[in-house]
Amino acid sequence: MNKYGDMENVGFIGLGKMGIPMVKNIMNSGYDIIVYNRSKDKTEQFKKNGVNIAKNPREVVEFSKYTITMLTDSEAVKSVFYGQDGILNALGPGKIFIDMSTISPQVSIELAKMVESKNAEMIDAPVTGSVPAAEKAELTIMVGGKFETFEKTKKLLSSMGKNIIYIGSNGYGLKMKMINNIILGANMAILSEAILLGEANGIDPELQFRVLSTGSAYSKVMDIKKENIIKNEFPPMFNLEHEMKDLNYAMEMAKSSTFPLIITSEISQIYEIASKKGLGKLDFSAIYKALRSVYDE
Ligand code: NAP
Repeated sequence: MNKYGDMENVGFIGLGKMGIPMVKNIMNSGYDIIVYNRSKDKTEQFKKNGVNIAKNPREVVEFSKYTITMLTDSEAVKSVFYGQDGILNALGPGKIFIDMSTISPQVSIELAKMVESKNAEMIDAPVTGSVPAAEKAELTIMVGGKFETFEKTKKLLSSMGKNIIYIGSNGYGLKMKMINNIILGANMAILSEAILLGEANGIDPELQFRVLSTGSAYSKVMDIKKENIIKNEFPPMFNLEHEMKDLNYAMEMAKSSTFPLIITSEISQIYEIASKKGLGKLDFSAIYKALRSVYDE
């Protein structure tokens, strides 16, 4: 029992664009929650609403049965996992660590081994659906880990998502996520290039989308991102640098499976160029802006 007299408490680390709506949905499902974020300004809105704020990641684990991380990348997760005040130090029997960040599958497998050495459990549970789906608790969640751990976490994951799908052992949720983000990144890049070709031939983007939205080239990403292209504005929802990171993890995954990713390696270079042009903190649909500037040169 912890200080709340309840072992079903949830700890959440990472109050970014995704983390904030996910925390709200966990709370709406009746869980008692404790949160931690590296930058303290993001905890203020929760503090005002009486949410427990932890001083460090270790304190989150001490007070919770389930500890969730929703952080940028492998380095970010490792930085809250290891160390005196890190997650690992407080893990033990009965505790479950759920990493929902998109990180390297290989790194996740290494973390899972460390968690097991503490007789605790871990799943990787990355998500797809972006901020609007996070707000509506409609995320798709892909799970890697022991099936019995998946079973234990399903109720909690259902407070954030609509489709909770078991993929395989540790790392497999992330492997599935890489497949998703290869398609997402390629889709956005080829859509941008084709629209630019249309524009170069004097066809207005709005007119192009009127045709494309009803035809066989339609995609969900087109629906979500067409306004950004039409307005040439890219407010960050899923950062371009995050898509680039995911393509790099996908390449790493391909390397370890000795599978050649021919098209993905080309596409990852386009995201690399966009990032070098200073567009990394914009939404990943800014790949359109990057390509436009390349063609204008
Ligand atoms: P975000 O808004 O940039 O938030 C990132 C979070 O990670 C922040 O809380 C940040 O803390 C923390 N962080 C970064 N580096 C850290 C470090 N070294 N130590 C401790 N904390 C650190 O990102 P997001 O959009 O919420 O994405 C989170 C994860 O979900 C990423 O892996 C992303 O690929 C994945 N994802 C995102 C979307 C989307 O549409 N946004 C969709 C699916 C999956 P500070 O506040 O201190 O910076």
